[in-house]
This record gives sequence, C-alpha cells and structure tokens, in this order.
Amino acid sequence: MSRKNGPVVAIDGTAGTGKSTVGKAAAQKLGYGFLSTGGLYRALAYSVFKKQIDPSDAEAVLAEAKSLCFVFQRQPDATLKMFVNGEYLGEQLHLDEVAQTASKVSTHAQARAVLTEKMRQVAKDGGIILEGRDIGTVVFPDAEVKIYLTAAPEVRAQRRLKQLLAQGLPADYTHILTSIKERDERDSTRAASPLRAAADACQIDTSDLNREQVIEAVVKEINKYVA
Ligand code: C5P
Repeated sequence: MSRKNGPVVAIDGTAGTGKSTVGKAAAQKLGYGFLSTGGLYRALAYSVFKKQIDPSDAEAVLAEAKSLCFVFQRQPDATLKMFVNGEYLGEQLHLDEVAQTASKVSTHAQARAVLTEKMRQVAKDGGIILEGRDIGTVVFPDAEVKIYLTAAPEVRAQRRLKQLLAQGLPADYTHILTSIKERDERDSTRAASPLRAAADACQIDTSDLNREQVIEAVVKEINKYVA
C-alpha cells in the first residue's frame, strides 16, 4: 500500500526496550513524525486517576476514553505533541501510578478501540513512526515496516534506574524491576490485543546493543522498504 507521506513504521515491544528513544531518533534521521502511542493510554489513565474512576470498570473507562479529544502538533524534533481536551499534560503522564493505571485501563477492548481509531486517523497518510504494543498487530496490521524490540527485564530496569538518577529523581532498582515485570505480565496476558510480535515483524534484541546500534538497525530496516 502506498501512502501520501511515506510508510507507516510500527515499533512494538515491552516497556524499557528503548522504543521511544530509538523511534524518535530514527524519525529525525528520516524526516518522519514520531508518536509514542502509550501517551494516549497514559492520558486516559491520568483522567481516570484524577476522577477516581475504578480502572477495572470497563464501562466507565470507555466513557472516559470517548470524552477525550486529542490534538497532535508536529514539533521540529519529529515528535507529535499531544493536547488532551486542550491541555498539554507533559511530565504528569510519566508518574509511575499513571503508567500502572495505563496498563490497567488498556485491558479494556472497547476503550482500546476508541484510542486505536485516534492513532489510525493521525497516522493514515504515513511518513510516521508509531511506537507501542500492538501497532504492527492491531492498529496498523498493514504497516509497511514492523519492528519488535526486546531486552531482558534486568537490562531494562538498569536503563530506567540510570534515567531516573540522571534526572535527580529517587529510584530503587528492585522496585523498578518488579514494576517492569508486573506491566510485562499484564500487557502480554490480557485478552484484548496482548503484547506480541507480529508474524512479519523484524525482531531486534537490544540487551547488548547501545542506543546508536539500535537506531542503525532500525533505520536499516526502514530503508529496505524505502529504497
Ligand atoms: O509505552 P508506555 O509505557 O508509555 O505505555 C503505557 C501503557 O500503555 C503500557 O504499559 C500498555 O499497557 C499500554 N499501551 C498499550 N498499547 C499501546 C501502547 C501502550 O496497551 N499501543
């Protein structure tokens, strides 16, 4: 399928495999947009959390998902800045409670369908890298390029620890590792769109690769399609 602005590139994988960093850097090199789709689930989680809605209440979570209006603005650094009901939520979306609630609200199939539709609308013309859990399997099964990143949980926890310490934030390795494993378990065992590699995805294990090596591997994969 040929799209107006180029391919849709799907990058899926577990939390902490470097999908965001690598996806954004690859988008910058190629002149594409970049969207971290977890942001939509985090925005829903944030809203659910703030209104004290029970994240296991499928109906209430669906109503909340429908009430969110997403607007995306492409930035010079390739990212799509997200406004939710007119508000930019920024770092609030990166709190651990929000991440945990995101993985709970994302178990509901109908709420997922609402957010999936938003992702399709913003990316349908291509020239974009989408990073998430089900981009190559559900959101864009017809994506021109599909990449699935993996890394051992211990490696991912170390990376997250380093990130938090570098930001001067409190961090505990054991807590991070437990949180990563809990999210992996929930994301990969849920009935609705569980995390798994698409059969036609190129799988890259990033455990022993540095950032530049992963970016290079991803760009190479995209260039196979573009060339
Ligand atoms: O990638 P990020 O950590 O921001 O995602 C937060 C949560 O949103 C994930 O743990 C996952 O449960 C959910 N998610 C999803 N499908 C996506 C992206 C994120 O279910 N495409």
